[in-house]
Amino acid sequence: MSTDFDAVIIGAGFGGMYMLHRLRQKGFAARVFEAGSGVGGTWYWNRYPGARCDVESVQYSYQFSAELEQEWEWTERYATQPEILRYANHVADRFDLRRDIQFETRITAAVFDETANVWRVETDKGDKIAARFVITAMGCLSSPNTPKIEGLADFKGPTYHTGNWPHEGVDFTGKTVGVIGTGSSAIQSIPIMAEQARHLTVFQRTANYTVPAHNKPLDPAYVAKVKAHYPEMRKRAKTKPAGIDFVINMASAIETPEAERRRLFEERWAYGGLGFMASFSDLLLNDESNQTAADFVRSKIREVVKDPKTAEILTPKNIIGCKRLCVDTGYWETFNRPNVTLVDISDKPIERITANGLSAKGQDYTFDCLVLATGFDAMTGALLKVDIRGRGGVALKDKWREGPKSYLGLTVVGFPNLFTITGPGSPSVLTNMLPSIEQHVDFIADCLETLRAKGVNVIEPIDEAQEAWVGQVGDFANITLRSTCSSWYVGANIPGKPRVFMPYIGGLPAYIAACETVVKNDYEGFVLA
Ligand code: NAP
Repeated sequence: MSTDFDAVIIGAGFGGMYMLHRLRQKGFAARVFEAGSGVGGTWYWNRYPGARCDVESVQYSYQFSAELEQEWEWTERYATQPEILRYANHVADRFDLRRDIQFETRITAAVFDETANVWRVETDKGDKIAARFVITAMGCLSSPNTPKIEGLADFKGPTYHTGNWPHEGVDFTGKTVGVIGTGSSAIQSIPIMAEQARHLTVFQRTANYTVPAHNKPLDPAYVAKVKAHYPEMRKRAKTKPAGIDFVINMASAIETPEAERRRLFEERWAYGGLGFMASFSDLLLNDESNQTAADFVRSKIREVVKDPKTAEILTPKNIIGCKRLCVDTGYWETFNRPNVTLVDISDKPIERITANGLSAKGQDYTFDCLVLATGFDAMTGALLKVDIRGRGGVALKDKWREGPKSYLGLTVVGFPNLFTITGPGSPSVLTNMLPSIEQHVDFIADCLETLRAKGVNVIEPIDEAQEAWVGQVGDFANITLRSTCSSWYVGANIPGKPRVFMPYIGGLPAYIAACETVVKNDYEGFVLA
């Protein structure tokens, strides 16, 4: 059967770009389809003020090319969105990727033709493509969630979503602004919007934990040291559950004397960033240990926020780290500003959006611009927007009606020759995305090479292997406190979405070992035909 390409890759973010590069290196013909007009994925769309990565730049970067590592200069501890986007563009240029990327083209359907063992792919531009493999690289947090609040279309001023920000930027100078949401995107953008706006009103449904970034320009001596020892740093990172090279204190928080515990929390707090959750090894395993960290952060809020009532509203009541921990620069301080108002909507949803603002708790609020920092239909949203149909014409959205099921978070029973980079059931969002992406891409590229060498046309997981994997993902989830709250990890932010803890929480080392065993045992759990 003749095909247009060996593989169609959906998305030109970090996953799609590296996938293209690896397949080319192995002599496969691949084409990437990208809805945006440029590369970068998340960093192409999320241009809201203050957007930056919460993993340190030197770690949130590709490691497949030593030359790339050496020639690229990160300038800040946590890179800004524009800097990461420049990096993505540099990679695209350096590896001459653009000639195989079709921009401004959205894949609308991918249907597996069982008689020919070929995927028939369609785009919104009318392309019809035949390919042996379809590889999704659409990102885990790429389908913006616009809440269905009554009257949203009635608002007369501009409405912005943090996940799909205007490329020309937005200047809020002199404007009054309403922001819905207090997740990572809001926590990064609120301090900057508050500096610009005449008045900012923040509508908070759930208070969130955040740790200071202590962002700073990178010292050239530090960068030189990192560059001299990149391989060792990457190797250490791969031994850590999150794929990030930071030291995990193996002690239990609750078994550590109070003064020493406080000292250790203070130390991590002063250092800043996500490593705070590695202050002790049991913060996400033991409720009492978690309470010690939560209480520490709560005490910090009271220290910073001057008005006790506002401090109380900003104080999270739930488990720290259950929802994704945020990393900020001056977030709580922002609520000391006279031009910022916090509205607690935890007990009653927003009633409706009006022409000039919104009504909540029987009160009308007016503003010129509305910012929706309301997150994403995470992990499955982007995948299920494409009409993906496997054997017997069965749609992935029907197959996953009760929640996503996959083998290794990479493949799905009934969908031969389909691979999902950082799909549900893989560590993805619980890890540094870059090494997780690279590990998936390498797995897929090596797999395609093996199939070619063996003269195999089709690879597909078997039911028992998928069920066992889904069982393992669920068992791991049940051990941690992370699966216990209403977060996007469990789909709780999208009304009607099945409640399933979607990522694999067993840690990157265990996950890599599982993938390696599968390969060593001749693609155990798959049928090769
Ligand atoms: P998010 O964490 O899902 O936050 C969405 C916010 O909107 C929450 O405060 C949510 O309240 C609120 N919300 C949603 N629907 C609402 C409604 N109908 N009424 C009132 N409030 C509503 O989304 P996000 O901030 O975009 O972040 C998503 C993820 O992207 C993060 O967890 C992180 O993994 C990633 N991210 C990373 C970075 C970084 O690297 N620094 C930056 C941004 C995002 P509830 O909590 O009550 O649902």
